[in-house]
Amino acid sequence: MAESKPKIVVLGAGYAGMMTTKRLMQQFTPEEAELTLVNKHNYHYQTTWLHELAAGTIDVNRTRIMISDVISPKRVNLIQDTVLKINKEEKTVELEHDKIEYDYLVIGLGFEKATFGIKGMEEHAFSIQSVDKSRMIRDHIEYQFAQYRNLPNPDPSMLTIVVGGAGFTGIEFLGELAERIPVLCKKYDVPRSDVRIIDIEAMDTILPGFDPELLTYATDSLEARGVEFKLGTMIKEVKANAVIVGEDNQEIKAGTIVWTGGVQANRIIGESGFELTKGKVNVDPTLRAPGHDDVYILGDCAWVMNKETGRPYPPTAQIAIQEADICAHNIKTSVFGGTLKEFSFDNKGTVASLGGSDAMGTVFDGNKLYGVAAKTMKNVIDNRYLFLLGGPRLVLRKGKFRPF
Ligand code: FAD
Ligand code: NAD
Repeated sequence: MAESKPKIVVLGAGYAGMMTTKRLMQQFTPEEAELTLVNKHNYHYQTTWLHELAAGTIDVNRTRIMISDVISPKRVNLIQDTVLKINKEEKTVELEHDKIEYDYLVIGLGFEKATFGIKGMEEHAFSIQSVDKSRMIRDHIEYQFAQYRNLPNPDPSMLTIVVGGAGFTGIEFLGELAERIPVLCKKYDVPRSDVRIIDIEAMDTILPGFDPELLTYATDSLEARGVEFKLGTMIKEVKANAVIVGEDNQEIKAGTIVWTGGVQANRIIGESGFELTKGKVNVDPTLRAPGHDDVYILGDCAWVMNKETGRPYPPTAQIAIQEADICAHNIKTSVFGGTLKEFSFDNKGTVASLGGSDAMGTVFDGNKLYGVAAKTMKNVIDNRYLFLLGGPRLVLRKGKFRPF
């Protein structure tokens, strides 16, 4: 062990950062290591519920958990600050208001939207990326309704919502919109037929690569509630109130444009000199950054290779949570000696909410679930995470029990 207590610093209190901190608290006694968790806010949020917040089907307080409620500040230095840069050679992290040193660093700074250089995307499209950005979408949609109701000759496209991309984020958001729009129509006395929800997806299918039967189920469920799909159609440009799509550069006017077309690692990783492959760092099987044995990169900042397919696992909360166990074990091993463990993903399945009491997905060995059964399973998955994080108390405070 190092002569003085090793300083272990975790950046980001998302799924990866929170669970790693919990596991480090179990691996080390207070005398053995100094633990620090740095996060932009004093709360952790359920990223997997942000689409609900963005549509307005869940209250903001439900998605947020005060970090100090689940991680004792007596045991871990909780620093509320924004990470600006990692100096990996001098083993320091620059924060907006401080500079801290580390012996071991865990980076769990999450994702940001990838715009692939599409003109106007950064400026004119919303993204489901954080509590505040998601809240802006909810407020903007409601403002469009209020304006539409009160202007003498409102532009009908004010109530068109375009969603770019039909990956899991896009599909789950569409499901929430399908539930929320009828409520807003009633609230503002607007006919449902005045509102359009259009999803634009570059591939010929929604959720490329997912089970075809489940895709049909999801498409039918969403179309039945008024969602229109434009598949095989690439968004090429975004303007203030329109998207330009397809080979013929068709213009679709919209009052709200939400981009769910892809994610990449937090830009701080690249700006700190870590080598990126398709927007993320290819970590080694022990989850360390290549060439930096003291730096672990987890969750949406990293690609972890699936040895069977030779392709990286799609980054999800499920993987981020599992990575925390290996990361904490390996840091302990680095301090005390022993053999490092390699990460192996235990895939428990994928379930996507379709709004209300509807969902679909596969669980365990590929068993397909639809409707209320799938939604119930989705709630079980979410509640399991809350249990791991904060025990039964947190499940009772924040958990979901009804299938809607
Ligand atoms: P995050 O959860 O994004 O956490 C990153 C943390 O870092 C945040 O707390 C953030 O505030 C903090 N941070 C960021 N920048 C800074 C900075 N500069 N300084 C300080 N702190 C900073 N996955 C599933 O497995 N199942 C699902 O059902 C599912 N649903 C999803 C639904 C939506 C709408 C979205 C967007 C994603 C969903 N995912 C789901 C994917 C999943 O949310 C991500 O893979 C997961 O959040 C990654 O965890 P993370 O810890 O890497 O990052
Ligand atoms: P994604 O990359 O999975 O999907 C993006 C979609 O946008 C793709 O279908 C892509 O073809 C489309 N697209 C890209 N460029 C386009 C363009 N110019 N025009 C039109 N369409 C375009 O991104 P995501 O949906 O945000 O998911 C990110 C990660 O989070 C994934 O790993 C996903 O599995 C995970 N996630 C999981 C769940 C769940 O398990 N329920 C929910 C949400 C997200």
